[in-house]
Amino acid sequence: MSSSQIVRNPFAAFCRKALADIQAQGRYRRFTPLARRADAYPTYEYTHAPRAEPGPDVTVWSANDYLGMGVEPEVQEAAIAAIRAHGAGAGGTRNIAGTSPLHAALEAELAALHGKEAGLLFVSGYVSNQASLQTILTSMPGWICFSDRQNHASMIAGIKGARGATCVIYEHNDLADLEAKLAAAPVDAPKMIAFESVYSMDGDIADIAATCALARRYGALTYLDEVHAVGLYGAEGGGVSQRDGVADQVDIIEGTLAKGFGVHGGYVTASSEIVDYLRSAASGFIFTTALPPAVVAAALESVRLVRRQPWRRERLFERVATFRAKLDAAGVPFMDTPSHIVPIPVGNAERCMRISRRLLDEYRLYATPINYPTVPRGTERLRLTPGPFHTDAMMDDMVSALRTLLREESLDEQSGATSRAA
Ligand SMILES: *Cc1c(COP(=O)(O)O)cnc(C)c1O
Repeated sequence: MSSSQIVRNPFAAFCRKALADIQAQGRYRRFTPLARRADAYPTYEYTHAPRAEPGPDVTVWSANDYLGMGVEPEVQEAAIAAIRAHGAGAGGTRNIAGTSPLHAALEAELAALHGKEAGLLFVSGYVSNQASLQTILTSMPGWICFSDRQNHASMIAGIKGARGATCVIYEHNDLADLEAKLAAAPVDAPKMIAFESVYSMDGDIADIAATCALARRYGALTYLDEVHAVGLYGAEGGGVSQRDGVADQVDIIEGTLAKGFGVHGGYVTASSEIVDYLRSAASGFIFTTALPPAVVAAALESVRLVRRQPWRRERLFERVATFRAKLDAAGVPFMDTPSHIVPIPVGNAERCMRISRRLLDEYRLYATPINYPTVPRGTERLRLTPGPFHTDAMMDDMVSALRTLLREESLDEQSGATSRAA
């Protein structure tokens, strides 16, 4: 080959084709530019493209900062003080001068929250699941991981990434199916059951006690993702396992600092042995810069406040109940979940996108459309998460907008179908 010859790499052409397919399937992702207003949560500024004047205010109904802890003045102040004291970044991995007393204090606080011997921080909840599961499931040969069909992408990444381990998927929250699959597996194989407490799309909740009872019978380790429950459930916000009084029966409890705690970062809590092993073996823990001190200080303040202030949880659930009652009274259909999540079924991807778009453009309300592949086709929905700062007036606006749009969009579809048929 002469030195002047140019060989074209095929990736650019691949991207063009793949993106065209994604667009054709209605799956192309467009982010809505929203700037949170810390002084007026859940109000955000809708910041279209570069513009001089401020954008309009929008009430956001889909945020995962469920308790608004990210805008609590004490939490913000903790972050600011830590930046002034320690600077903006951690400056190294945990092993390379990146472990401050703040990191150790937060790990101890999280271990105490879940009644475990030890805790370990990761740079996000995603990484905590991916790294912990992959590390445990590659530790010994022959691991079998029983994984709930609706487990989060981060758990699937960890399980699938564990070469040599077998993944057995059981039907969602179906303990009879789980038991049949446990019983069919070799008795002496190391086993794990990986599941979540609150499933964030359907808003349903696992039976942790019964799952742990099965785990004991078949000698399985239990790994529980409490990401959508920490801060919200249990006397101190220790999650559904705390609410149900079964945290001691779960081997590994994983959580995030980014949802109910409103800051950033992920963690696992477990026995000292398991945590020590992950600390020494998990690549996704070892080879990445530690969380910045400001993030750790803010999260520590948030966890401390949330633990000792049950009124935050009570207020959240009062707001959720009020919102459901208002939807009910207006005849707006919703999935009646046992959690704080209120999905509004819409049933088709285009309609879901259209209603979300019109909520924003015509009513200045934002609700994320949830489409395939996040949920099965035909079950498209808007996922609403009412919080402690959604007022009655905000709720009335949302309920009446939904009632109008759901009616109009279904009529449009019928007339569209008629005219196509004609
Ligand atoms: C959001 C989420 C995670 C990831 O947590 P991050 O801190 O956002 O990375 C893990 N598990 C579940 C079930 C989630 O919904």
